[in-house]
Amino acid sequence: TTERVINFAAGPAALPENVLLKAQSDLYNWRGSGMSVMEMSHRGKEFLSIIQKAESDLRLLLHIPPDYSVLFLQGGATTQFAALPLNLCNPEDPVDYVVTGSWGDKAFKEAQKYCNPKVVWSGKAEKYTKVPSFDGFEQNPHAKYLHLCANETIHGVEFKDYPVPKNPNGVLIADMSSNFCSKPVDVSKFGVIYAGAQKNVGPSGVTIVIIRKDLIGNAQDVTPVMLDYKIHDENSSLYNTPPCFGIYMCGLVFDDLLAQGGLKEVEKKNQRKAKILYDAIDESRGFFRCPVEKSVRSLMNVPFTLEKAELEGEFIKEAAKEKMVQLKGHRSVGGMRASIYNAMPLAGVEKLVAFMKEFQARHT
Ligand code: PMP
Repeated sequence: TTERVINFAAGPAALPENVLLKAQSDLYNWRGSGMSVMEMSHRGKEFLSIIQKAESDLRLLLHIPPDYSVLFLQGGATTQFAALPLNLCNPEDPVDYVVTGSWGDKAFKEAQKYCNPKVVWSGKAEKYTKVPSFDGFEQNPHAKYLHLCANETIHGVEFKDYPVPKNPNGVLIADMSSNFCSKPVDVSKFGVIYAGAQKNVGPSGVTIVIIRKDLIGNAQDVTPVMLDYKIHDENSSLYNTPPCFGIYMCGLVFDDLLAQGGLKEVEKKNQRKAKILYDAIDESRGFFRCPVEKSVRSLMNVPFTLEKAELEGEFIKEAAKEKMVQLKGHRSVGGMRASIYNAMPLAGVEKLVAFMKEFQARHT
């Protein structure tokens, strides 16, 4: 079959259809260069034009100030869990982590190897359904940075606003892997923003780091060359062979997001999609449930369960028959999860909501 599914995967996730078709038409022979992007030298003028446009389009989208560098790296967001403390701290330096889900917890655990991190707030006891009030936790006034995960992909908890580091010389760092480019962000509030591409902006294999330039250049001596921001910054992300095709795909997505009118417009679409899905859950009289506190529910990842948990397998199976796939919740939490990133069309969410209503009618 040539028909495409409605893909609710958490990542790698759906990409915009027009982006895929553009990549398809470029694949065999990129703009008359006689080769595909996969076959180009990363130092040739063709690829340089691709990476430079990707960066400048991303700068436009997020209004990235000039005193920030944009790096296109590899190793996933997971590699950044180590790169951050290695680049920003000495081994004895204190740093603070607000942990609102599994990813923040993983970032904290990795940092333990390279500096002196502390969890200043954890939502674990409440099964990661909340974001703390910003005066509800004690920051270390000497912490080099305050780290948070802007959107917890598994638990569906999203920061709508951000705390300010108590240390005037400290910086805020956010893992935005699962809500990157889903809404406007004031980059100047952050020292570092990082994101794996494979949810909102491209295929896996590209990790984007946006870092204030004055934070670059103090890596611990043991830092591997591939994790040293200074090396990548000085070489415009071309120190070694970058993930060329992935960067090209991200560039096509950035172009598409700009064509949609930028991130304010994209956010409106995302709000609309999320609203109809959360409304369907909340108006189901308990048949469907979302455990996350309403004010911090994610626009990107919507976890839900069934009151009759024994029907969950059937729900997922029947949805798949109607071409709605990847609705199973993460193995650590169970239930269902609908990931509705930028590339999920409104019609896809509408179809899911219609199916949920029909499923409920049949089972009550
Ligand atoms: N942080 C968040 C919020 C994520 O969702 C993920 C991946 N699901 C990661 C980090 C890890 O990313 P990667 O697999 O790219 O290392």
